[in-house]
Amino acid sequence: MTGVSFDVDEETRLILDSLDEFIEREVAPLEADLAEAVRNPRLGRRPNGQPTQEVLDAVQQVRRKSGDAGFYGMVMPEEAGGEGVSTRTWYAAKRHVASKGRGLAEHVLKGPEGPNPLLLHAEGKQVERYLEPVVRGEKSTAFAQTEPDVGSDSPAMRTRAEKNGDEWVLNGRKQWITNAAFCDFALVLARTTPLEDVDRRLEGITCFIVEQDEFELGSVNNAIGLEGWQAEILLDDVVVPESRVLGPVDGAFRDAMALLTMGRLELGAEAVGYSQYLLEQSKAYAQDREAFGQPIGTFQQVSTMYAKGRAKTYMADAGGLRCAWNMDQENDVVEDVSIFHWFATNAFWQIADDAVQIHGANGLSEDNPFVDHLHLARVLRIVEGTDEIQLNTIAKQNGLL
Ligand SMILES: Cc1cc2nc3c(=O)[nH]c(=O)nc-3n(C[C@H](O)[C@H](O)[C@H](O)COP(=O)(O)OP(=O)(O)OC[C@H]3O[C@@H](n4cnc5c(N)ncnc54)[C@H](O)[C@@H]3O)c2cc1C
Repeated sequence: MTGVSFDVDEETRLILDSLDEFIEREVAPLEADLAEAVRNPRLGRRPNGQPTQEVLDAVQQVRRKSGDAGFYGMVMPEEAGGEGVSTRTWYAAKRHVASKGRGLAEHVLKGPEGPNPLLLHAEGKQVERYLEPVVRGEKSTAFAQTEPDVGSDSPAMRTRAEKNGDEWVLNGRKQWITNAAFCDFALVLARTTPLEDVDRRLEGITCFIVEQDEFELGSVNNAIGLEGWQAEILLDDVVVPESRVLGPVDGAFRDAMALLTMGRLELGAEAVGYSQYLLEQSKAYAQDREAFGQPIGTFQQVSTMYAKGRAKTYMADAGGLRCAWNMDQENDVVEDVSIFHWFATNAFWQIADDAVQIHGANGLSEDNPFVDHLHLARVLRIVEGTDEIQLNTIAKQNGLL
């Protein structure tokens, strides 16, 4: 490839078309069975906030079928069981699925519970037991970095792992861990060399594979927009064998950053897709709904909300495509992904707020999807790096801070 192209290439087009067919054939009937339970967090949740068993089963089915069809982990390299599609194709697929709005389809393509760059370090029996089933959507994982006292400043983590013969003993507490309660195993980051003994703060952290029955679950961490999917992981003298170290001892953080880079691109792509969905809904409503004898879309204040949303989505998408292209060229994208994540998630937030406004009281109704998208948009400005951390990164990459 010689230059940036914004065309959807032939391979990507075929994948998007097949995704449409797959969602229509496999996901839509499941969603119809569950009715509003997948769209309305209040209906599809247990009293503690976690998804009901029927929602969890449906999600699991979607992942497995998607894995069988080769969609779920298609961005992973072929030698890891994926399809090795380009980052541009992955970006387009993530955006495309999100452009249908929230629902069961959001589990068709891997998210934080799926395969990630850390897992590419799997060796020997780890490949068969952990990496391959996760790429196929048969097992799921959880990435456990955040702690009750440590979020953005992750190198300050307090979870420790100490070597004892050919075993490691882990102690600590992780919080806000997506899929912790439902995963088959977690990827737990722990400090293995104290901060005072490393040259760089990012060193001295190791990733451990800890199986579900080896750790205890703490509280469910309910966040608006993603209710019930996050929980605490309690590690109280948890012993794991040496064979559960994933990647280099003391060197997990570089891969954790690669994971965050991919995560930022994925969340940005979703933000663009959801924005497109909300804009379509808002346009249709603005053309149909009348007030004072005319469609509300003919009022300049309403049409301007829509037009600003279009402009922001256009810019965000251009940034996402550029980012994905740079990733395919293996260029440094530290600044790009921060710009994209920050811009796309903030655009989504504003567009979701405007979608509620354009729909008036109907926008606030739980029977409609708008508040749910608004909640998710708010979450996306905090996960995979807060707004402030993205802006710090941009400033740092330009010699400030
Ligand atoms: C729905 C959801 C899912 C999540 N999933 C996972 C997961 O799967 N795995 C995982 O490990 N974590 C997960 N997290 C945690 C998430 O990564 C953290 O919440 C995030 O990194 C921010 O950390 P914090 O909440 O502790 O905020 P803090 O780091 O305490 O920040 C609080 C405020 O201070 C600001 N701030 C902090 N440092 C600076 C600075 N240097 N300059 C300027 N402002 C600053 C922040 O921007 C923020 O506004 C999840 C969180 C949520 C809500």
